[in-house]
Amino acid sequence: MNPDRIRKLVIVGGGTAGWMAAAAISKIMGNLPDFSIDLVESEAIGTVGVGEATIPQICLFNAMLGLDEMEFMRETHATYKLGIEFVDWTRIGHKYIHPFGFYGLDMMGVEFHHHWLKGRLAGDTSELDEYSIAAMAAQSNKYLPPAPNQPKSPLSRLGYAFQFDAGRYARYLRGRSERQGVNRVEGRIVEVEQDPDSGFIAALKLESGARVEGELFLDCSGFRSLLLGQTLGVPFVDWSKWLPNDRAVAIPCTLGPNRKPITRATARRCGWQWNIPLQHRVGNGHVYSSAHISDDEATAILLADLEGEPLAAPNPLRFLAGHRARAWEKNVVALGLAGGFLEPLESTSIHLVQSGIARLMTLFPTREFKPQEIERYNQMTQQEYVDIRDFLVLHYNATERDDSEYWTYCRNIDPPEGLAEKLAMFRSSGRVFREHNELFTETSWEAVLVGQGIVAGGYHPAADLLTDEETLKRLASIRGTVARTVEQMPTQEEFLEANGGAI
Ligand code: FAD
Repeated sequence: MNPDRIRKLVIVGGGTAGWMAAAAISKIMGNLPDFSIDLVESEAIGTVGVGEATIPQICLFNAMLGLDEMEFMRETHATYKLGIEFVDWTRIGHKYIHPFGFYGLDMMGVEFHHHWLKGRLAGDTSELDEYSIAAMAAQSNKYLPPAPNQPKSPLSRLGYAFQFDAGRYARYLRGRSERQGVNRVEGRIVEVEQDPDSGFIAALKLESGARVEGELFLDCSGFRSLLLGQTLGVPFVDWSKWLPNDRAVAIPCTLGPNRKPITRATARRCGWQWNIPLQHRVGNGHVYSSAHISDDEATAILLADLEGEPLAAPNPLRFLAGHRARAWEKNVVALGLAGGFLEPLESTSIHLVQSGIARLMTLFPTREFKPQEIERYNQMTQQEYVDIRDFLVLHYNATERDDSEYWTYCRNIDPPEGLAEKLAMFRSSGRVFREHNELFTETSWEAVLVGQGIVAGGYHPAADLLTDEETLKRLASIRGTVARTVEQMPTQEEFLEANGGAI
C-alpha cells in the first residue's frame, strides 16, 4: 500500500457541488481501507437555492452513480430537457432552439449543416430546427429516449438532459452518500487552521468547538469560497467586461401552460429571463446587469411574466462572471460556485462541478501533491471556463438588438480571441471547428451561430456530392421523417406515467 495515500478527505459545503462530490467519490473510493470522507455543512447558512437546468453530460454522471432514472425523476421532480429556446435574442419577435443531439441524419460523412447551407443557396427556406428531433419533439411536448441502435431513425440523433429541483437532487445524493459511508458534520466553520510552514489546510474549527482534520479539502462552500478564496487568497479572474450581468432574482411559481421539455431563455431589455418547467412547479429568474437596470425594475419585469402563482418571495442573488485563477491550490480543490461562476444561460454550472470531479478522480493526489498534476488540473479547468465563456458571449455579441444601452454595449463587446476565430471561420466557410474536446459540440455552435443570425460564407466542398436537386429532395425527406417520428412519440407526461417517473 502506498504510504502517501490520502486517508482523510473533507468536503466543505453541502450544496449541489458538495453532495455531487461526496456521492461520486464515495461511490468510487468509498471501500478503500482506512479512507474517510467528512462533509461539513451549515443549515443556518443554507445553499444558493437555485439551479434547475442541466446539459446531457449529466446522464453520464447519474449512470456512474448507478441512479435508476425513474427513481431520480421522482426524487428530484424532474422533467426532460431537449434544449434551450432562445426568444428575442437575435431581434425582438425572433426565436430559435439550441437542441441537444445532432441535426439531420448521417449524410456521407459531411456534417449535416453543410447540406442545409447548400440547400439555402438552392432556394430552400426551412429552419435548422426542422431537422432536429429534439427541437421538434420539445415544441410538441413529446419525449422518447434516444435510440442509438437505430441509425436510420432520427431518435438515434436525440440528446437529452433534465430540469430538476437542485435542492432535491442534493438531498437525494446525500442519502446515497451517507449509505456509501460519507460522514455528514453539521455546523458553521468559524476558523480554518493552516500548517505554519506549508500553508496547507490542516483542520476546520466549527462554532460548536469541534475540529475536523483532513489531508485533502474540497471547497464547495459556494460564492464564499471559504478555503480557496478567503483562506488561501487565490484571486478571482473577473470576466464582467464580456459578461456584464451580475445579478439575478429568482422565484418559483405554479405550473402554467408551458410544460414542454425545454428551458426557455427570453432576452429582456437589460438581461434575460429563464422559465424552467419541472413536474411540480416552474422555476423563473431574471438575470440582469445592475449597471443598466435597478433591482426593483428587474423584479417587476420578472413578476409581470409569471405563468402561474408565485410560490415564494423573490430571491435576489449577486455574482460576478469569472473564476478563481487556480481551482486547485495546495491541498484545496474548489468545485461549484467556490471555484467560479458563469451565468446560467447555457446551464453549465452543475456540469462544471461534474467535470471538476471527473478531473479530480483522474488526477487524485497522494500526500506528495505533485505540482505538475495540480498544474494540469488548473490548466484544464481554466480552458473549460474559457470555452464556455466564449460560447456565452456569442449570444450577446451577435445580436441585432439596439433597443437599450445594455444591448448596444453587448453588440460592441470585442469578442475574446477564440470566439473571434470561430466567428471568422463560420463567416468565411460555414465551418465550425471543435477544439481540444471542448464542451459544446458542432451542433451547439451551429445552432447558436445560425440562430443569432451569423451568415455562413460557404459550405463544405463535399456537399457537392449531391446536386442541388438531390439536396433539396434529401432535405425534404429528412424533415418529413423527423415530423413523422415526433407525431408517433408520447407526450412527456405519458412517458413519465408509463415508466414510473411521474411524481
Ligand atoms: P451552494 O449551494 O451555495 O452551497 C454552499 C454550501 O457551503 C452550503 O451547504 C453552505 O451551508 C456551505 N457553507 C458555506 N460557508 C460555510 C461555513 N462557514 N460553514 C459551514 N458550511 C458552509 N446551475 C446549473 O447547472 N443550471 C442552472 O440552471 C443554474 N441556474 C443558476 C441560476 C443562478 C442565478 C445562480 C446564481 C446559479 C445557478 N446555477 C445553475 C448554479 C448552481 O446553482 C450551482 O452551481 C450549484 O447549485 C452549486 O452550488 P454550490 O454547491 O457550489 O454552492
